[in-house]
Amino acid sequence: MKDLKMVDLYGQYVRLKDEIDQAIQEVIETSAFINGPAVRTFTRHLSDYTGARYVIPCGNGTDALQAALASLHLQPGDEVLVPDFTFIATVETVALLNLTPVIIDVDPDTFLIDPASIEKYITPKTKAIIPVHLFGQCVDMAPLLKVAGKYDLKVIEDAAQALGSWYTFPDGTRKMAGTMGDIGCTSFFPSKNLGAFGDGGAVFTDDEALACTIRSYVNHGTQKKYYHKQIGINSRLDTLQAAILDVKLSHLDEFIEARQQVAAWYDKHLGSFPFLQIPARAPNTTHTFHQYTVVTRGIDRRHLMNYLKEAGIPSMIYYPLPMHRQEAFSGFPFYNRSFPVAEKLCNTVMSLPAHTEMDEEQLDYITTYIKNYQNG
Ligand SMILES: *Cc1c(COP(=O)(O)O)cnc(C)c1O
Repeated sequence: MKDLKMVDLYGQYVRLKDEIDQAIQEVIETSAFINGPAVRTFTRHLSDYTGARYVIPCGNGTDALQAALASLHLQPGDEVLVPDFTFIATVETVALLNLTPVIIDVDPDTFLIDPASIEKYITPKTKAIIPVHLFGQCVDMAPLLKVAGKYDLKVIEDAAQALGSWYTFPDGTRKMAGTMGDIGCTSFFPSKNLGAFGDGGAVFTDDEALACTIRSYVNHGTQKKYYHKQIGINSRLDTLQAAILDVKLSHLDEFIEARQQVAAWYDKHLGSFPFLQIPARAPNTTHTFHQYTVVTRGIDRRHLMNYLKEAGIPSMIYYPLPMHRQEAFSGFPFYNRSFPVAEKLCNTVMSLPAHTEMDEEQLDYITTYIKNYQNG
């Protein structure tokens, strides 16, 4: 049996080797390493794929969030709603721009912001919200957009883990993660749904003025070369990464399907164990399973993880500490307040290997082993 890994980036490369090697070789031959033609081609293809009118490539998903937030011209102290159960980038970028993150607890089953819970966090200073499409499912955007509209909040989607996930609105319209709010952000970190061979990110919007501001922000605030209209950052997508991503984008739907099949296997074989809760499906969204995350019940999670490790089965905790308990945020009012759901999730979740290169032998090995834990 092939070694078990959380994600098998090399295995995926080997399968696409000819296409990827050729794409890399072409970039080297033209040597347009910065802003080369592959960046424009990939950006156009990503716009076609997602349906976003404007796609602004940048250096990573964190910069995408920062650029999105900066483009809204908010004032220091303006409040931005963010979930407690997420990767730090969602909250850190708000704080870096001197805005005030306001933490929202999440739904215990879907791990996502529950739009029905938002209103109680809104004050006159609340100006924006960042729904995070965690682990590959979209937040229930129709009701979220309704609340945002009522209070005039800007919506920045953090779609770092959900590129390729579809959300269906009540009227039947389908939109892709990252294209429903004012701005969407994604990441091409190697293990994400669409992963580069290094860092990369992108911002999506349908608003031309926002697109202009964001494009300028990630390029030193440049309007015309050597004329700088605002203070910006330097955040580019490498030509090499764009060339690799363009190859992989043409396989993204296959990647998603492969991970969905892994999830279907786990659901079928782990669904009846009292000590595990398989991932709940959020309403109106597909699930691209950036992570397959179970909630452990009534057992010592560490003990189960060690038991798996001894059999060569890796597992990970995403995330071990909620945002409201991160030392970095000790200066904010939410620090160490009570957010019981996120707290409990951090103590009980566990992610299993779920990637595009898994075969049935590996899956059978994992689920049989977990079943024996129950019996043993
Ligand atoms: C990965 C990730 C980011 C940041 O992306 P980078 O490319 O690593 O900067 C932001 N938000 C979430 C939810 C993520 O998972």
